[in-house]
Amino acid sequence: MTKKELLYEGKAKKVYSTEDPDLCIFEYKDDATAFNGIKKGSFEGKGEINNQMANFIFRLLEKRGIRTHMVEELSKRETLVKKVDIIPLEVIVRNIAAGSFSKRYGVEEGTPFAEPTLEYSYKNDELGDPLINDSHALALGIVSKDDLKAIADIAYAVNDALKEIFAKVGIKLVDFKIEVGKTSDGEIVLADEISPDTCRLWDAETNKKLDKDRFRRDLGEFAEVYHEVWARLKDCYK
Ligand code: UDP
Repeated sequence: MTKKELLYEGKAKKVYSTEDPDLCIFEYKDDATAFNGIKKGSFEGKGEINNQMANFIFRLLEKRGIRTHMVEELSKRETLVKKVDIIPLEVIVRNIAAGSFSKRYGVEEGTPFAEPTLEYSYKNDELGDPLINDSHALALGIVSKDDLKAIADIAYAVNDALKEIFAKVGIKLVDFKIEVGKTSDGEIVLADEISPDTCRLWDAETNKKLDKDRFRRDLGEFAEVYHEVWARLKDCYK
């Protein structure tokens, strides 16, 4: 399968069409952005790490019965995926207070929750991805009630699986964002990526941040922690 036409260039990857209308190719870039694209950075090899780590995690999730868009890793930076219509929601699950939750509600970062939380942001760069609830998403016509149920089920299933996967390598899953899409058969599947760009990951012993917050907050060791998380996963699941 080869790349045909650039369909979309996002902040961290490019998406190409292929000869098969039901398949696309992701090409991960080394770039990082934060705060809706205002802050920019990169490190060499980031695209390769995120591509391989996302595929590795997606395979583990598939083994646990979670359907994803993943088809085949084509190279260190490229992956063949099913073409899906992305539902314009960022689906966020939290186990521990951090980031915008802490800011919005005045809760100290690191405060654990008795139960995971689920929230959605409306994916719209012009509006700055505002927080949105179920009834507003229905009113906008971007989902049906059945879709919302399917999305929540996927979000909690991914949380349970990811918590376990990361716990095995000494990492606490603080929160994460996923995206979901509809395949040509109308099935809702996990899409986009799961990586330290999209999760908050803290070392279980020291609480050291092992994710994109190192870039967002200028904490240093941005590349090092991505290498660290990838090395721990690879070593543990060999
Ligand atoms: N997140 C993401 N993309 C976004 C917004 C958030 O991947 O556009 C992830 C982020 O890395 C974190 C989780 O979603 O793991 C929750 O982010 P939060 O709402 O706290 O936003 P932030 O503090 O990053 O602005």
